[in-house]
Parts: sequence; C-alpha cells; structure tokens
Amino acid sequence: MLTERPLDFVDARGRPFLCAHPTPRGHGHPPQLFIYQPALEQVLRDGVARHPNVEVLLRHECLRLRQDAGGVELTVVGTADDSVHRLRASYVIAADGGSSLIRSQLNVGYEGRTYEDRWVVIDTEMIKPWPDHDRLRFHCDPARPAVDCPTPLGHHRWEFPILPGDDETHLTTDEAVYALVARYGISRDSIRSLRATVYSHHVRFAARFRVGRVFLAGDAAHAMPPWIGDELGLERAHLVGNSYGGACALRLALDTPGRVDRMVLMGPGGIGTTRSLPTAGLNNLVNYYGGDGPSRLKLETFIRQYLVFNAADVPDSASDERYRASIDPEVMAAPPLRRPSGPNALRTLWKMDFTRDRRLDRLPVPTLVLWGAEDRVNRPGGGCMLADRMPDCDLYVVANTGHWVQFERAELFDRLCADFLAGRR
Ligand SMILES: Cc1cc2nc3c(=O)[nH]c(=O)nc-3n(C[C@H](O)[C@H](O)[C@H](O)COP(=O)(O)OP(=O)(O)OC[C@H]3O[C@@H](n4cnc5c(N)ncnc54)[C@H](O)[C@@H]3O)c2cc1C
Repeated sequence: MLTERPLDFVDARGRPFLCAHPTPRGHGHPPQLFIYQPALEQVLRDGVARHPNVEVLLRHECLRLRQDAGGVELTVVGTADDSVHRLRASYVIAADGGSSLIRSQLNVGYEGRTYEDRWVVIDTEMIKPWPDHDRLRFHCDPARPAVDCPTPLGHHRWEFPILPGDDETHLTTDEAVYALVARYGISRDSIRSLRATVYSHHVRFAARFRVGRVFLAGDAAHAMPPWIGDELGLERAHLVGNSYGGACALRLALDTPGRVDRMVLMGPGGIGTTRSLPTAGLNNLVNYYGGDGPSRLKLETFIRQYLVFNAADVPDSASDERYRASIDPEVMAAPPLRRPSGPNALRTLWKMDFTRDRRLDRLPVPTLVLWGAEDRVNRPGGGCMLADRMPDCDLYVVANTGHWVQFERAELFDRLCADFLAGRR
C-alpha cells in the first residue's frame, strides 16, 4: 500500500498550480490509498488458505441461483471439466462484478449511466525511478490530460483519455504506450509496460443491495469513477452539520438552495453572533490555537467543561482522537475559527452572522434544527431565531444536553434525523 502521496495539478508545461499533501485526520483510515490489485488479491488468497474449512473454487462459474425461506442454492459449473455442483448456503454475497449475473437473476436494476468518453489505463513496472515519480499528478494539458500515479511495489500507472481520431486498439500497444509517456520524459529504460486497457467510467448503483438472503457487493452493487459531486450526477444532497459544520451547511444552502434537499443543523455556529457577546465556550474554542498552542489538556478541558452536559459520558479516546486531529500539520498551518481582524473585521463579523442575511427569510430548504438546552458554545436561543425566520424549520431543544446532540443523545438524534430525511415529519 502507498499512502499520503503529495498530489499536484500541473499545467501543460508541467508547472504545478495546485498542490496538496493528504495526511491522516484521525478518521481511522488513510485519506488516500494506492494499491496494486494483484498483490492485494494474493494477500486475500493467502489469508483464505489459512483456513482449512474454506474451499476456493477457481475456474468455476455460477449459472443459477434460487432461494427459499431456508437458504440459497447455487448451480456451479467447473469450466475445466464441465462438472456440475449444487451448493447450498444460508446467505450469499454476490461480488460478481459490474455485469453481475446474480443481479440480473434477482431482477435488480443497475441504475445510472456510463460516460461516453473512453480512457486508456496503463500499468507499468518502474525500472529506473525519475524525479517526482512518487507524486500523484494530474496533467491539465488541454491537448491530452493525463493522470500520472505512483502505485506500490515499484509500479506506476498512467491514464489518458482517448481522443477523437485515436485508434483504440493501437493505443494499447507497447509502441503507443511508450510514445504516450515519452511526453513526460519517461523513456523505455525507465518502465516496462505490463498492461494497457481501454475502459469507460460507469456511475451506477443497484436499485437494491439485498434480496432475501442474497447481498450484492463490490461492482455488482455500485461502480463509480474516482470523483464525486457533479460528475457522480449528485445534483442535490441532504446536509447534516454540527457547529461549524452546521454553519457551512447553512452557508451552502443560502448560496445554492437548489443543491440542498433537506438540512439538519445541530447547534450551528453563526446564529445571532452579532447580537450578544461570545459564550465562554466559544472563547475557549477560539483560543485553542492561541497562547501556548494546542495541548491534550486544553482539548480535554474544553470537551468536558464546555462541549457536553455530562463530562463522564466522554471516553478518553474521544479526546485522544480529537487532539491528534487538531495537531495535524495542515490544520496547524491554517487553524480554523480565528477571530476576524484587520480593517474589515466588523464587516466579516456581520457577514458571519446568518441572522443578518435576508435570504434566511425565504430559504426554501426544509430544515431540522436540534439544539442542546445546555449548549455552552452556541446559545440555544439561536434555535428560536432560526425557527422564527426560516419558512420551513422544525426545532427541537433537547434537555440535559450540550453542544454535541448527536453524541449525547445519539438514539434520539438518529431517530429524528432518519425520519426527517426520509420525509416523515
Ligand atoms: C482498467 C481498470 C482500472 C481500474 N482502476 C482502479 C483503480 O485504480 N482504483 C480502484 O479503486 N478501482 C479501479 N478499478 C475498478 C476496480 O477494478 C473494481 O471496482 C473492482 O475490481 C471491483 O471488484 P469486485 O470484486 O466487485 O468485481 P471484479 O473485480 O469484477 O470481480 C468479479 C469476479 O467475479 C467473477 N465472476 C463473474 N461472474 C461470475 C459467475 N457467474 N460465477 C463465478 N464467478 C463470476 C469474475 O470472473 C471476477 O473474478 C479499475 C477497473 C478497471 C476496469
């Protein structure tokens, strides 16, 4: 596995104009991960081989699936000898790829679309490293954009769109592969071409992931290109945000109401902030990166004294995780939630208070506001301000709860949120 590779967007002459370095944020998984699929599959096969009660049937094809109340029966044919086997199982996970036969047999649709643009993906073995071979680069060259991507175990991948007039078959030949990468200064001595394949991007979801005792997984259940938002066809989405996240959700809804379906805000920031002095909790939060800088003690004090109603409910691990995330070098370089300063400070403060924004009075997005009655960071009175002003706003003020409704009253939050987002209110 390769993780945390710097990534650059470069222009046609290779000059970077946007650079980022993804680093872990305490989510329990790397923010970015490159795998070499044959190596991963080998690890999985070795793992399975450790269990004598698991039999792997390679070169076998499932032709039919039937299920009844007690289980599932599979008809499987050995492709080497035409042997026919009937297997019975309590449950089946069908991970048989994008063209899933099982999905068809279950009569489950595969909704979405396939892009017309076709791309060639080239996997190579690196023989001689070149400068910056370990950076992920997007070559934004209008003539032919390219993805230039390090992959583990001394491999490297390129992806190029197929342009009008290109001969697809030719593009997968070694000759074409070496010509395509030559524009980035990569010569035949540097790489050995392993595979070049033409593919299309699919954005598709199975209408259901489960039918009775059969579950669809992997590409059989969903396939998508590695980008999101507009390209995924997600024109509208529900937004759920707490505190600063709630403020971001509200800002997005005010700026682009057509893109937001429904919105759940938990103790959002920026409500009535110019109408009273900041709370002690907010001051504490804003000062976190000031003075002697962040510390585990400062963070734990903030959580236990200001963030929640009942300090005993917060496990140490929550403070550990939050502290680790708070000292991420990228976050430290541009700490969030700074007090506005300079000549435009007042103007900025004014703009940050949503109750000064007239668009609030006609925001058509159905909104659920949940606010802890004992919130010591953002005043619970903000809930009434929103409910009074917004045309379609439900408000719940939750007793014996601080700033983290979703944590402190998780069950209630889940129920209200699920009902509201499903349109049951
Ligand atoms: C060219 C290319 C490049 C890609 N690059 C990336 C990438 O960089 N990163 C990334 O995350 N994803 C990438 N993907 C997508 C990735 O390969 C798939 O998302 C992933 O392989 C899906 O795994 P899967 O197990 O669901 O399906 P598959 O890998 O398609 O496996 C399905 C398996 O089921 C078997 N099967 C099918 N029908 C039957 C049957 N009736 N009976 C028995 N067996 C059956 C097939 O033989 C196959 O072995 C790429 C895909 C392509 C085509």
